[in-house]
Amino acid sequence: MTVDIKSKRDDTPLTATETAIEGRVYVHDTCGQMTRISGKEMVALCDPFQYVARTTCSGCDTRDIVSRFRWRDSGESISSFRRRMRDEAPVFCKIWIMVVAPLTASIIGIDLVRQIRIFAELPENWWIEIPLGILLITPLFCRFIAPKILQALIQPSFHQQK
Ligand SMILES: [Zn+2]
Repeated sequence: MTVDIKSKRDDTPLTATETAIEGRVYVHDTCGQMTRISGKEMVALCDPFQYVARTTCSGCDTRDIVSRFRWRDSGESISSFRRRMRDEAPVFCKIWIMVVAPLTASIIGIDLVRQIRIFAELPENWWIEIPLGILLITPLFCRFIAPKILQALIQPSFHQQK
C-alpha cells in the first residue's frame, strides 16, 4: 500500500525578513573585505526611512559609516543606494514620514505638555507649550518609531531592489 502524503500548500506571504534570507554582499572601502548581510539587518539597512548610520564589516571586525561600504554586485555605495530608495519610494511612504508622523507626534506632544501645565496649575503660555510639545516626542518618534510602523504595515521591499 502506498501512502500518498499531500504537502499542505502554504500561501502565507513571506515577511520582509524572510525574503532577505539570501542576503547581499557589500565591500568595505577601507579594508576591501566582503560581508554578507541578510535577514532583518538587511531589511533595516536597505530601508531609507530607518535610521542606520553604521554597519559592520566582518572582515576587519569594525562598525563604520554606511558611505564607506558598497554593494559588491552593483558597485553602488550603500549611502547612495539608500538615497535612491528614498527618492523612488511610494509617495504615501514620504507623506507618512514627512507629514503625517511628525504632525501626529507634535499634536500629541503639545497636548501632553498642555495637560501637564493644567495639572501643575501653571498659567497658559503657548510660546513655551508649542515648542516644548514638538520637541518632546517628535524627533524620537520620527527617527525610530515612524519608520518601524511603516515597515510593519506595508513591508516595503527596498531590500529586494538592486
Ligand atoms: Zn573592513
